[in-house]
Amino acid sequence: DQSVCAPLPVLGGDVTVPLVTGGEVAYAALDYAASAPALQRVWDDVAAYAPYYGSVHRGAGYLSQLSTELFENARAAVAEFLGCRDGDQVVFTRSTTDSLNLLAAVLPAGCQVFVFETEHHASLLPWRNARVTYLDAPRTPDEAVTTLERALADRDPYGPALVCVTGASNVTGELWPVRELAAAAHAHGARIVLDAAQLAPHHPVSVRDLDVDWVAFSGHKLYAPFGSGVLAGRADWLREAEPYLAGGGASRKVTRRADGGVDVEWHDSAARHEAGSPNVIGAYAIASACKALTEAGFDALVAREQYLIGKVRAGLAEVPEVKVLSLFGDDAPRVGVLSFVVEGWNSSHFAAALSAEYGIGVRDGLFCAHPLVRTLLGSDPQTQGECGAPEAAPGEKSLNAIRVSFGAGTPDEHVVRFVHAVR
Ligand code: PMP
Repeated sequence: DQSVCAPLPVLGGDVTVPLVTGGEVAYAALDYAASAPALQRVWDDVAAYAPYYGSVHRGAGYLSQLSTELFENARAAVAEFLGCRDGDQVVFTRSTTDSLNLLAAVLPAGCQVFVFETEHHASLLPWRNARVTYLDAPRTPDEAVTTLERALADRDPYGPALVCVTGASNVTGELWPVRELAAAAHAHGARIVLDAAQLAPHHPVSVRDLDVDWVAFSGHKLYAPFGSGVLAGRADWLREAEPYLAGGGASRKVTRRADGGVDVEWHDSAARHEAGSPNVIGAYAIASACKALTEAGFDALVAREQYLIGKVRAGLAEVPEVKVLSLFGDDAPRVGVLSFVVEGWNSSHFAAALSAEYGIGVRDGLFCAHPLVRTLLGSDPQTQGECGAPEAAPGEKSLNAIRVSFGAGTPDEHVVRFVHAVR
């Protein structure tokens, strides 16, 4: 235990919350998979820069020039963090959801999309205007690869195709075989986008090493504040499509035509899809978080997280009523995200009790991955369980689950308290 590094300082680490049993306790944020607390270092970086910001790509003043430089440096820092290839673009977006919707908006005509039903809704739903093939939940990583290969072998071999896959599940925390899926996609002439919302905060993600075409992630899960995200990868589809948002910043030249209409030349760079005044502080914060994680070192962060997962797993294993959810088996490698149900308990009440009686913040529901959670719980696909919806009646199968998740800022005490509370 001594060899494991200390948690990184995060915002909110000293917040206390009232308990129904009386008194107060330090808040234990165990919902990193929804939004991780920002690193203190990121907050300090933003605070140091904030008094000096000006408009980017627009102003002639000194602070505008400074902001433009910092915004573009942030882009370069993210490209480095993600191991981008020459010619790749880094587009700043609002979130992973925004990034994947952007990619869906630039798909070439006739593109076929392949996506597992197990994806988060942000990866599952943006493709609904394309020709989508939904793949059944695999029960092993190998089965994921063979399922994809089989589907791709049946596809129209001449048209463009895209595979969308998560790096780590937001429900089970399990790691997906991204490199193998990318190889399968490319072998069949398809491209692949990696939803790294849950992977990037926990593991190094290299576009080059994984050989994926795009990667998407959110700042607020990567220890930066809300409101910014990234889509990084191949420039061609991005450059060939109409801008995601039309407006200033995306356009290089706008002219009135003789017939009274308007002609537009759009930028070829990432600016094409960043119309309007960008979220420069958000981009700056993401870059700061990327640097902070790199400096802390993923080896140390992974070691600490595995140590915490070990404590949680061992603690939950002692409670016979607890059933941990997994697609690939109990021993499958995972990040610090675990969902479970407790026999005889309503998951929503259980999560509420963790908060009210122990000051522990977890999440209950279907985690915006309804098909996956229903598969894991073995519920009828037509059941009405929704995110945060009322639970099954006593004696019936659980419709919702409880999710605990943690990361670089989690002290031992939070997971110890969690295990104690569940017991
Ligand atoms: N993908 C995964 C795997 C996620 O866990 C989430 C967030 N729960 C998203 C996408 C969407 O991220 P955001 O809400 O930041 O757009």
